[in-house]
This record gives sequence, structure tokens and C-alpha cells, in this order.
Amino acid sequence: MELYPADMAGFMDMFPTEDTCLEYLSLVRWPDGYKCLRCGNGDYWKKARGLFTCRACGYEASVLVGTLFQDTRKPLRLWFQAMWYVVNQKNGVSALGLQKALGLGSYHTAWEWLHKLRRAMVRSGRERLSGIVEVDETLLGGEHPGKRGRGAEGKSLIFIAAEEAAHSENAIGRIRLSVLENAAGETLVKAVQAAVEPGSLVRPDGWSGYSSLPSHGYTHVPNFHKDAAPGDATPLAHRVASLLKRWWLGTHQGAISPTHLAYYLDEFTFRFNRRTSRSRGKLFYRLIEGALQSDPVPAKTLTQHLEAREPTA
Ligand SMILES: [Zn+2]
Repeated sequence: MELYPADMAGFMDMFPTEDTCLEYLSLVRWPDGYKCLRCGNGDYWKKARGLFTCRACGYEASVLVGTLFQDTRKPLRLWFQAMWYVVNQKNGVSALGLQKALGLGSYHTAWEWLHKLRRAMVRSGRERLSGIVEVDETLLGGEHPGKRGRGAEGKSLIFIAAEEAAHSENAIGRIRLSVLENAAGETLVKAVQAAVEPGSLVRPDGWSGYSSLPSHGYTHVPNFHKDAAPGDATPLAHRVASLLKRWWLGTHQGAISPTHLAYYLDEFTFRFNRRTSRSRGKLFYRLIEGALQSDPVPAKTLTQHLEAREPTA
């Protein structure tokens, strides 16, 4: 079996039935073959809905339990189609867009699925940025006066870390984004520590908030980017900020609730860091992998903030 489909036709061929989806999930989850989770024996019976029964001790395991798909009542094929759609939309997906693409009867289902899938986009223990990294902050939100939001103006402060690409200092490598509680030096340093490997060269826009970085094992890069406009110390981070704003206003119409913002930033990062990957199938595979590694997300934990959901039109 191929590791992932190359295109839409390949996708259709690869997943014609529920069983082919279940089979794929077991291959991705247990690439070396299933072994009993209790006794380690590799001899088993397969039952319906991805159940494996150990021939030695009788222990029963399910490929779906403990994953993002755990309690779903919808067909896995529909989930797979949603994931294929999500990785193929370069600029991201709104719930309404997904609802229309899959012909889902309920906007809420599309909304809930996107929230769950965002949690599958970031893997725990991912490595931090390294080399030369530009850091900056930007404000998101508040473009719609009268809309309720956090803070007086409904804006959220976002931390941006953008790595200089290895092949060219004018190109961006990987990025990391996070929501900042405030712009205090201590907060900024924590954000850098979460995103950037110590020993890296860090180039901030303003200097004062980051002045303690050298005492945390980072090297401040004082020389400005050679092609930067005068006064623009961090052109790469600024480029990310403007793409982020365009995505926020375009795909999401400026209507992301601050409660969920961090997950939307994860989605932006997932897409951005894989923007040059020509294979959408590989992204699909990564998303499946992430979904299998994600803990189940009970719908209850999502719906409590439904009042702040995206616009329906
Ligand atoms: Zn066993």
C-alpha cells in the first residue's frame, strides 16, 4: 500500500470503503504491525470497526480508541474527505467552506471537526527553531468595531518567530506563533524559549523587551538584515505578520474568538511550514498521524464557547 495518495483520483481509489480507512489508520498507527497492548503478542483476530483481539490473552484493542476519531458516529470516509479537503486548501478553511464541500447538513459538525483537526496539526515535542531567528509581536483583531473581544479594542497580541531559511537570508524557513498575555519582557522571553533553541541567533525588532535574552543563552543579532528597508530590522517576521493578517481577514473574516485563537495559529503554522511541499498527500498523512496521536476531544469542551463562533454567512 502507498503511504499516501498523490492526488484526488488516488485518494478516491485508496479509500473507497470504511474498511479501507480503518486499515489505513492501523497501518499509520502501528507501522510495524499490531502487537497486543497488554501482552505484546503479534497474533490477533481482526473484527469490525478496527477491533483487534489477541489470540494469546484475548485482550481487545481498537485502532480508534484514544485518538481524535474515538467517539465519532460519522463515517471515517467522511472524516478522510474532510482531511483531504483541509490539506488541499492552501489558504485555510472556514467551517462554512467545509460544510459546503462535504455537503454536511450541519454547520456545527463542520465547525467542530475543524476545531478537532487543528489539534492534530501540532505534534507535542516538536523541535524548536534554530539558526538565525527573527522575533516580533503583532496585533490581531479589533477590525470590526462593536464586536466583543478581549481587551478594550478586542485585539490579541501575537508572538512571531521566523527562521531564516538555510539557503537564503531573504527566505523564511519555519515559523512559530503564540498568543501573548502581555508585552512584558518576561512574557516575551518565555515565548522565545518555547519557540527557539538556545544558542540560536535572535533578531528582535524592538530591543528593550528582549534585552535579557543573552542571559538565557541566546545571541542577539545586532546587524540588520542587509536588504531590509531602513528601520525594518525584521522583514521576515513582518512578512509573516502581513500573511497572518490577510489570512485572518480573508479566510476567517476577522472573526476568530480569542478562546480558540491559539489553535487557529497552530493551523496557520502547520500550513505555512509545509507551504513548499508539493505533495498534498504527505500533508494528509501528517494530519492522519496527528489525529491518531491526539487525545479525543469531547464535543462538550468545544461547545461551551459556541457563542463566539465564526459567522455563518
Ligand atoms: Zn495479548
